[in-house]
Amino acid sequence: VSILHWNCTALLSLALCGILGDSARAQDADGAPAAPRWALALHGGAGSWDPGMPAEQRASLEASLRRALAVGREVLSSGGTAMDAVQGVVVVLEDDANFNSGHGAVFTRAGTHELDASLMDGATLGIGAVAGVKRIKNPIIAARLVMDKTPHVRMVGAGADAFAIENGCKEVPQSYFYTLAMFDELQRTMKDLGLEPPATPGYPLEDAAASGDAAPDQSGETVGCVALDVHGNLAAGTSTGGLTAKLPGRVGDAPIAGAGTYAHNATCAVSCTGKGEQYIRHSIAARVSWLVEGGRSVDDAAAHCLDKVLNTGEGGIIAVDHAGNITLRANTVAMPRGAADSSGRFEVAIWFDP
Ligand code: ASP
Repeated sequence: VSILHWNCTALLSLALCGILGDSARAQDADGAPAAPRWALALHGGAGSWDPGMPAEQRASLEASLRRALAVGREVLSSGGTAMDAVQGVVVVLEDDANFNSGHGAVFTRAGTHELDASLMDGATLGIGAVAGVKRIKNPIIAARLVMDKTPHVRMVGAGADAFAIENGCKEVPQSYFYTLAMFDELQRTMKDLGLEPPATPGYPLEDAAASGDAAPDQSGETVGCVALDVHGNLAAGTSTGGLTAKLPGRVGDAPIAGAGTYAHNATCAVSCTGKGEQYIRHSIAARVSWLVEGGRSVDDAAAHCLDKVLNTGEGGIIAVDHAGNITLRANTVAMPRGAADSSGRFEVAIWFDP
């Protein structure tokens, strides 16, 4: 019995080594097992930030990225899960008026805000998503509740709002999401489309003023985060107000697993930003994972999607694989982004080299 037991244990260890791959077998220079690796990346949307922006705006945006990155680093370096790191990072970005998610979300053409978010657990393939929510301060927390507390993967509209609030999500008035920069952007965009923009938001302005922070640093974009934890698990999350001047009821790629968000422990975790309709049409987040499954690196897979599947100017992709390799790419001029890992990497950037 004991020999049989030893054989089974040995076989199991060999099989596990095969499954876990190089990162789990890594050794340091002295041959001792290396500390398990963690890695983290985030984005604040793909777009066209002006390289000539005032220094204080740039400093504010970079400080926002660093603040969120530090939250994720804290979770992962203390042994926390990739899911908790992703959620924690996205909450910080949702609360920050520098980005188009939560406070600072864009306006629909009706002068209102409708938010989309999702996250995915690469270990279990659990998915949680909300779309078109209007009353929740942090849609990514609502998405996590959908995953943890329902048999479903995506909830929309009033039902999603009610479910999230009943389960402890903080409820806010629409004016909480208001920023002057995004309202100005609605005016410009609707005029460009030849439409008459609303003179005021679709809710009382005095509420908007009362919510404070009415003049953000700049218009922001969608946010997302991907993480590998020391347990070898991957997770991804994305949160957005969608596109400026969208029709009420429009849903983008962010709350759709396989389009804007994807995670699978065997391949990688992916979060996307850009023209949601295109990301849905081409299943971009899942496509990155399939390309990695077929043998490409995450960087190569993301580059292929941005260069060969999508059109120039349509967006960006961040991903991390099960060995902790990170890619941060876009086919736009800029994508505020950050990366950190257990080797001490901790860096943020906004533009790409021309
Ligand atoms: N992908 C988002 C959407 O289409 C927007 C963005 O990332 O800028 O809703």
